[in-house]
Amino acid sequence: MISDLRPLNCDVCVIGTGLAGMAATLFSAARGLSVVQAGHTGEIIFASGLLDLLGVYPVSEKRLWSKPWAAIDALVRDIPHHPYARLKKEDIKDAFDEILTFLEEAGLPYHRRMDHNSGVLTSLGTIKSTYCVPHTMWKGVKALEEKPACLIIDIRGLKGFSARQIAASLQNGWSDLRSAQISFPDTDHLSEVYTEHMANALLLPHNREKLAQVVAPHVKESKIIGLPAILGLYRTREVISHLEELIGVPLFEIPTIPPSVPGLRLKEAFERGLRPKSVQYFSLKRALQVRQPADGHFETHIGSNDVEHIVHSRGIILASGRFIGGGLHADRTRIRETIFDLPVYQPDSRTEWHRRNFLDPRGHLINQAGLEIDDAFRPLNSSHQPAFETLFAAGSILAHNDWKRLKCGAGLAVATAFGAVKAFIRLCR
Ligand SMILES: Cc1cc2nc3c(=O)[nH]c(=O)nc-3n(C[C@H](O)[C@H](O)[C@H](O)COP(=O)(O)OP(=O)(O)OC[C@H]3O[C@@H](n4cnc5c(N)ncnc54)[C@H](O)[C@@H]3O)c2cc1C
Repeated sequence: MISDLRPLNCDVCVIGTGLAGMAATLFSAARGLSVVQAGHTGEIIFASGLLDLLGVYPVSEKRLWSKPWAAIDALVRDIPHHPYARLKKEDIKDAFDEILTFLEEAGLPYHRRMDHNSGVLTSLGTIKSTYCVPHTMWKGVKALEEKPACLIIDIRGLKGFSARQIAASLQNGWSDLRSAQISFPDTDHLSEVYTEHMANALLLPHNREKLAQVVAPHVKESKIIGLPAILGLYRTREVISHLEELIGVPLFEIPTIPPSVPGLRLKEAFERGLRPKSVQYFSLKRALQVRQPADGHFETHIGSNDVEHIVHSRGIILASGRFIGGGLHADRTRIRETIFDLPVYQPDSRTEWHRRNFLDPRGHLINQAGLEIDDAFRPLNSSHQPAFETLFAAGSILAHNDWKRLKCGAGLAVATAFGAVKAFIRLCR
């Protein structure tokens, strides 16, 4: 019975536990706000673990930028509706500083060059330009630049990762690059192996010893070894330094196809790091319904199928993502926002959602769809006014972002969460 539930009172209810939701919760809690957060896993566990700021602009020219802040200047000059245009550069910088400090304290350090993107080797043998790199991959960034004798290893039964392909793609500029295949210990009888299982197995020292024995005969003259991202589901510093000691050369990880261990680590680091803060966290629960009674507060019903919690909050930060996350839903004629039925910026007709050519350099219009907001990150109603005084939105649900092509996924999530929390404090305190 809903009437038996005692409401939880808080300052902010964060809807969504993807990167934008996690960042919004962190920024709110760090500023003394009480937070209730709910959501399912979101895209975070599929993501590579790299934190992009801005890598490509304009998408139609596929122009790569080594200086992401200069790229942002160009982007906001040309696309004033892009969510980055609602933020000062200092705010985006502060947002990254705060997230990286938090992740370091949660045992997941990242590296970056303040003003430059760095190149990271991918499982296809291409080089991805990104802003922040997990410490597990950072030695690979240096190796790519300095090109020492390097061995790339893949694992029998692991889909979507070929050391031979990586070596073949890079051989021209990197003569001392070799590849080898190994069987992960105790998996000879399996036709397929999974990154999460191997990363979990490597939490145990005796599995690391077995892996080192399998790798050792392949090391030869190599000065560094690259492996798929499996070096510990967490406690990566301990796992890597133990393996390096056993094998005798430095190791680095290469991101794999989803689901991704570095994405799982990010999710786990947020959950662990936020636990001691004043956050009520409802994992694998949804906001089933939101109402705004006359007092201006929001009443959010949270649960799986039935209402399990009632939350009264002064404001809501909506970080419910796009189609994978569930914040947007596409039916046969239109794209809907799933909780408030807010107006969604979208092409007039479904026939315009996608261009005829899948690889069209201009991208597809459906990737621009989302919520339009004011300068305080408040979604707009059909009269272009804030739909609610204290409803804010952050992350990939925002219109005009096309983060996949611009290579700005994590940056957009983190920076807009920062903007939304600052706006909440400005308007609600
Ligand atoms: C395959 C893949 C690779 C990626 N690689 C990179 C990369 O290399 N670099 C990079 O920077 N970014 C990358 N990203 C993007 C990155 O993960 C972004 O942060 C993400 O896309 C946007 O996060 P979000 O929080 O806005 O949305 P999501 O992660 O989709 O989260 C949405 C959240 O809202 C919740 N939700 C929806 N409806 C409700 C409801 N009714 N009640 C409660 N909760 C609800 C969902 O359960 C989920 O928790 C990648 C993403 C994918 C999918």
